[in-house]
Amino acid sequence: MPKPKVGIFSLTCCEGCQLEILNCEDELLDIAGAVDIVSFGMAQSNNPETALDIAFVEGTVVMESEVEILKAIRERSTTLIAIGACATYGGVAAMNYEVNRKELKEVVYGADAALIPSITPSPLHKFVKVDFSLQGCPIEKSQFLKLLGYLLHGDSPIFPDYPVCAECKRKENECVLVQHNIPCMGPITVAGCDARCPSHFNGCDGCFGPVDEANVAMEYHVMREKGMDNDEIRRMMHVFAPTAEVFKKDE
Ligand code: SF4
Ligand code: SF4
Ligand code: SF4
Repeated sequence: MPKPKVGIFSLTCCEGCQLEILNCEDELLDIAGAVDIVSFGMAQSNNPETALDIAFVEGTVVMESEVEILKAIRERSTTLIAIGACATYGGVAAMNYEVNRKELKEVVYGADAALIPSITPSPLHKFVKVDFSLQGCPIEKSQFLKLLGYLLHGDSPIFPDYPVCAECKRKENECVLVQHNIPCMGPITVAGCDARCPSHFNGCDGCFGPVDEANVAMEYHVMREKGMDNDEIRRMMHVFAPTAEVFKKDE
């Protein structure tokens, strides 16, 4: 049986998620044995335009030309997976997506603003059907490998549906928010990173995006108690997942 054909693509981003895949050093040979990687911008220069079983796409759509690139990838792929905060929520590029784009470009580029082809930064699902999403900025290697395993076995992927706090408690970390007044978005952020930041005595910045049924109002309440004002809290929530519906209602 032929091996599944896989492509890994980038739109506008830092390419950190692709790098995270390349960092699967111990597993790369196994991956190469299980799938036929036909496109991988960071790792190979030969990227033929063949039909794909699985396309992984990182990055934010910020130009009309990227809409066309994305649609072409969708067209030739059976399964399309958004990887990282940029692809799933617009990420840092979309932090100010609510601000009028024309005005923003004029502030930055002045008289040359009209020459800049950028559109409102948006996640992939705004333009094409996305079958699955991997969260994080960047994604976690372990989650990538798990998802690939599910797909190769023909199983439906299962993703965490609980917050970072659950992982943090499991590791018996001290709570940086309650015990040390460090802002932490762990209560409203979906798990999957093994509470990476609180485990190193930092607050969670929410790079995995919101957990289902995130209690945003309670997060505002607790963070205000720790000395932050509404604007600071709103900005913190908009760094990685600015387009998330749940962050549109606040306080
Ligand atoms: S999600 Fe983060 S690491 Fe991944 S491409 Fe975007 S900015 Fe880079
Ligand atoms: S440190 Fe953050 S993630 Fe950990 S339990 Fe406290 S609020 Fe939750
Ligand atoms: S703790 Fe929060 S900010 Fe840190 S990696 Fe996990 S989800 Fe991202």
